[in-house]
Amino acid sequence: MEKNMNSIKLEYLWLDGYETPNIRSKAKYIDFDSSTFGFSSGEEFQLENVPEWGFDGSSTEQADGGDSDCILKPVSIYRNTIENTFSGDSYIVLCEVMNRDGTPHSSNTRSKLRDIAEESDELKMWFGIEQEYLFMDPKHDRPYGWPKFGFPSPQGRYYCGVGGDVVRLRNLVEFHAECCIAAGIPLGGTNAEVMLSQWEYQIGTAGPMQVCDDLWVARYMLEVLAERGGVSVSLSPKPIMGDWNGSGAHINFSTQYMREVSDSDYISEIIKKFESKHDEHIAEYGIGNEDRLTGKHETQHISEFSSGDSDRGASIRIPIVTAREGKGYLEDRRPAANMDPYRAINRIIKTIKGVVEL
Ligand code: ADP
Ligand code: MN
Ligand code: MN
Ligand code: MN
Repeated sequence: MEKNMNSIKLEYLWLDGYETPNIRSKAKYIDFDSSTFGFSSGEEFQLENVPEWGFDGSSTEQADGGDSDCILKPVSIYRNTIENTFSGDSYIVLCEVMNRDGTPHSSNTRSKLRDIAEESDELKMWFGIEQEYLFMDPKHDRPYGWPKFGFPSPQGRYYCGVGGDVVRLRNLVEFHAECCIAAGIPLGGTNAEVMLSQWEYQIGTAGPMQVCDDLWVARYMLEVLAERGGVSVSLSPKPIMGDWNGSGAHINFSTQYMREVSDSDYISEIIKKFESKHDEHIAEYGIGNEDRLTGKHETQHISEFSSGDSDRGASIRIPIVTAREGKGYLEDRRPAANMDPYRAINRIIKTIKGVVEL
């Protein structure tokens, strides 16, 4: 009898129910019978072919012990470019968490973004997220490469630094970038940041759903690569108190109108709207952000709003080109590194909709 099976590994990813969500994942191995699924060998495995799955929500703050099953609904599939042992086809499957009756779980922030993204599709919004983070030594719970006691040299040469005295783990950063790009994630750049072992990568530009999904998968890949190398990744907004920068996740955004038609009055109108919703934005921009937004270290104070041309101490920075031409994009510098992009971008779209009155 002719066998027509493909051996496939599916790594299911979802967000747990913690206040700052964590990625959870588990693997399913299947012998994929192509005749049953109408899949011929050599073709890419499709999202439609991925079965729904479940997990124990009582272990992830998503259910009580008595009624603990939650459903994993596959919503996006990626080639698993960080696979290093499995010899068959390997995929990462991003999932939404659903209740047993098929409704979105209360922790499912993606489903809420899905709704508003559909409604505002005609705005043709683009986003670019700058994810900052700090590599940690998990055994000693301190930043990777920092001395056992005390601190490394003060900030100065680390930002975009070059050389073994000021840079750590560049191989890992570059390997992560390559794995993201190979998986189809638009990772646009990386740079060393202002503290030793702090880095940044940028995801985008892409539409709202894609940029958020891709950021979560990029975060997942970095966590696993770091894990394999014996290091961990901190997205804490202020990992080290004192005269050290925090970690942010600047969100750059534009609508088609901003890119192609707008003038400086229109840009001012958008910024005014953002100012009037400052507190609502801060509420969606990550837990512990008050330790980071102090008014120092290239931030505006959390209780104030300001904007400015090329101003890195502003809440919203108007990039040079946008200031010069009245068109382009804006940079919201307030989101913390640990923000949930589904929530942050949801809030940004709501505010912009208030300007354009869809
Ligand atoms: P900086 O560090 O100077 O703030 P980066 O180069 O790190 O800037 O990040 C700039 C970000 O802006 C990138 O993520 C890029 O994708 C995004 N971006 C560029 N053009 C647009 C645009 N028209 N709309 C939305 N985002 C944009
Ligand atoms: Mn940047
Ligand atoms: Mn940065
Ligand atoms: Mn920035």
